[in-house]
Amino acid sequence: MKKTLIKNIRIVNPFGEPEFIENGRVSIMNDKIEKVGSGILEENDFDEILDFSGKTVLPGMINMHHHLYSSLAIGMPPPQKIPNNFTEILEQIWWKLDLALDENSTRASFETGLLECLKCGVTTVIDHHSSPNFTEGSLEMLAEIAEKFGINISPAFEITDRNGEGYFESGLAVNLRTLQKHENNPHVFPLLGLHASFTLSDKSLEKIAESDCGIHIHVSEDKADEEYTKRLGYPSVIQRLNHFGLLNERSLVAHGIHILPEDLEILQKTGANLVHNPTSNANNKVGILSSEIIEKTKVGLGTDGMQASMLSEAKEGVLIRSSHKEKNVDYFAFLFENNSQIVSKLSGLKLGNIQPGYQADLVFFDYSPKTEITKENFSAHILFGLENPTDVITRGKFRIRNGKCVDLNEFEILEKARLQSKLIWNKMN
Ligand SMILES: [Zn+2]
Repeated sequence: MKKTLIKNIRIVNPFGEPEFIENGRVSIMNDKIEKVGSGILEENDFDEILDFSGKTVLPGMINMHHHLYSSLAIGMPPPQKIPNNFTEILEQIWWKLDLALDENSTRASFETGLLECLKCGVTTVIDHHSSPNFTEGSLEMLAEIAEKFGINISPAFEITDRNGEGYFESGLAVNLRTLQKHENNPHVFPLLGLHASFTLSDKSLEKIAESDCGIHIHVSEDKADEEYTKRLGYPSVIQRLNHFGLLNERSLVAHGIHILPEDLEILQKTGANLVHNPTSNANNKVGILSSEIIEKTKVGLGTDGMQASMLSEAKEGVLIRSSHKEKNVDYFAFLFENNSQIVSKLSGLKLGNIQPGYQADLVFFDYSPKTEITKENFSAHILFGLENPTDVITRGKFRIRNGKCVDLNEFEILEKARLQSKLIWNKMN
């Protein structure tokens, strides 16, 4: 048993109780938060006492929809033909990148992507993976790397028909094996990954439905997805998935930009979770999830592989919505309230809250506010004042200390990523 006391910190615990403590303390026992409060405490019972004066602590953040496989895309040469629409973006960029990934480049993508997450204070990642030429073993590799980094992970392999039947079968098999293997592992909670309705036939959906588990799928990201589904005779993508019995409380539906009012009712009735990814939608010019839909459901927030930082995603979401002249919605609640509720439902873990009994995933920032920070205005400071954390604890252990990785060789991870990125970029051309 190890007990640590961290004192003299500003505790910001959005949507928890209490939400804000100036000059507070948190005690950690093994991997859980034991006590939270203020004032003086008997200090004899602790193995370690840390004075973190000047630091602000937040709960570890959650990315509800990420693509670690795209980690090596930054700075990639542009495609030979400039894509004109969403489908061409997929065909000319992402479907070339995922086919180029082999075992080594997949490992480099996972390691460098998760390193970035940790450095941004993101301690739980719901990933949607694709590496058709390295399928077998890919999700297990992700689970092992996440375990080493101390990150909670939801692995899923994007099943699709677009590469032929053999790839469909191996994609389904790797998902099912991972689901079975981690049935009782709270830190690894796999979902059944589906690429999207427009790359899966009815026959494939029928086969997938036999497994009866939570799916993780792109839905209605672009009109092309809805148009394809209509051509098959279904009123919408959501109604097609529902027809096959694929929506339930453990299902994650990313994007949903063009969904209908009746689709929203199906999401509510089945308990399926909608995940909003504003920066990716802006980047792909596919539109924006309407404020009206957001207000009627509990949306989660993800980055769709665009970036690692959830604080940036929330802040940029606010700005993108303003530029669309859409009504303001509460990005702070998506990030801190909805994401932790959805993930608790998927994993059974108590996450996203600085309260006794919750997993000790804590993120510390050096923050000297230029205006007073109070119980009433802390959300503005968090979104518009904070940058990257200096220290990150997950499961009661320091993973980042004073800006440096504790157990990981950051230099080696980045060196490997630079080498692997060159190899896959060459392969893509
Ligand atoms: Zn995505």
